[in-house]
Amino acid sequence: MNIVLLGGPGSGKGTVSNLFEKTQNMGHIATGDMFREEIKNGTELGKKAQEYMDKGNLVPDEITINMLKGKMHEFEGSNGVVFDGFPRNKKQAEALDKMLEEQNQKVDLVIFLDIPDEDIIYRTTKRRICSNKECGAIYNLEYKKPKVEGICDVCGSELIQRKDDNEETITERLRVYHEQSKELIEYYEKKKLLYRVQLHANVNITKEMISEWLENYKANR
Ligand SMILES: [Zn+2]
Repeated sequence: MNIVLLGGPGSGKGTVSNLFEKTQNMGHIATGDMFREEIKNGTELGKKAQEYMDKGNLVPDEITINMLKGKMHEFEGSNGVVFDGFPRNKKQAEALDKMLEEQNQKVDLVIFLDIPDEDIIYRTTKRRICSNKECGAIYNLEYKKPKVEGICDVCGSELIQRKDDNEETITERLRVYHEQSKELIEYYEKKKLLYRVQLHANVNITKEMISEWLENYKANR
């Protein structure tokens, strides 16, 4: 089974992917990590991607698709993969469908983490990270407070706010996200693959919730 995860910045896609990975024996392909890995390892595709990025251009879908194809082979023994971060628009969704079809596979389910924008803005502006890069622990002044104000529980370093975690930046990211994903959501809705999960940002996503989504989805097919 192959799953596409959709959701805006800060919607919890990473958490959900990790749960699928652990509880459903699935592979997890986070497109951002995949790019960093290919570039770090100096692969042909990584080098090509870097050239575009150096010029400030978007990496063409064709390169991303080829990376995804290679990455999928690593998970051949798994129960399918979770795509996190790709596709971001309808054109990419069509390219992914084509690539999967060539391998006699398909997207079986699309989980859309639908969280109100106000929630995402609120949560993001309350986020604090450990200033020690080796540690990188993440806190939230509302949902996951450090034991001592302003200090990392793990390593004792000072907590800081990421430059991008301000209301203006996150609002702009949400605007771009909504603009791009509108057609994408419609595309998967038409294919009857979309499973919309309405959540609030303070909800902790659990493995029980994941099982419930899968059962609900199968029951309604
Ligand atoms: Zn720390």
